[in-house]
Amino acid sequence: MASLPYIVGNWKMNGTRAILSEARAIDRGAARLPKVQVAIAPPATLLHRTREAVELIGVGGQDCHVKESGAFTGDISAAMLKDAGADFTIVGHSERRTLHGESDEVVRAKAEAALAAGLAVILCVGETEAERDAGNAEAVVGSQLEGSCPQADGASDKLTVAYEPVWAIGTGRVPSVDDVAAMHKAIRAKLVAIYGDAGAAVRILYGGSVKADNAGELLSIPDVGGALVGGASLTAESFLAIVGAA
Ligand code: PGA
Repeated sequence: MASLPYIVGNWKMNGTRAILSEARAIDRGAARLPKVQVAIAPPATLLHRTREAVELIGVGGQDCHVKESGAFTGDISAAMLKDAGADFTIVGHSERRTLHGESDEVVRAKAEAALAAGLAVILCVGETEAERDAGNAEAVVGSQLEGSCPQADGASDKLTVAYEPVWAIGTGRVPSVDDVAAMHKAIRAKLVAIYGDAGAAVRILYGGSVKADNAGELLSIPDVGGALVGGASLTAESFLAIVGAA
């Protein structure tokens, strides 16, 4: 793949204004590492301030509503993310799928809403530990892709897929190199089945306990086009160490 490695920080429900100094430091560090594309997804409350604090790196949301506006207390639309300065949004993170009961159908509607609002999309998929132990990991991820990949015209041009095994998120455990390679190969085949030739150009990130000490190995696996990083993206020091390994 000709595109640059893409390293995205998912700050989840972490950070108040004090964390903007980390965003600035990440931005300065990324300027010294021009061969990597860097982005962060701060909580929505910090999106606008983060946009104003950085110059180079991408800024995105962590989720969006399927509708553009309306009586949906507490929700945030893709158009609002865009207006606050987002370039992209994550959709279908396992914490949304599990804790908010989001189905593939809902995730797909969110992805399509984000594209319609002019945002790029990072679509997360991944199996649970029980699904992997039962030998169903590729089937589960394949079915998540079939159900949640956006179907709008040109959708794949603005799509990134993040493979995040649920059991690897925040646990310090990562799949073997062979398992990551096999899954990324299966995801690639599924993306080509869904989008035709255009599916060959969709970037596929790995996510789940990516740290400075495993990033180099994970990012050298064929068809791993970058990383989605949770815990280790919260300080510039740990996040830039991952960016530097890309
Ligand atoms: P983690 O989270 O890096 O803390 O495991 C990754 C994610 O959930 O995107």
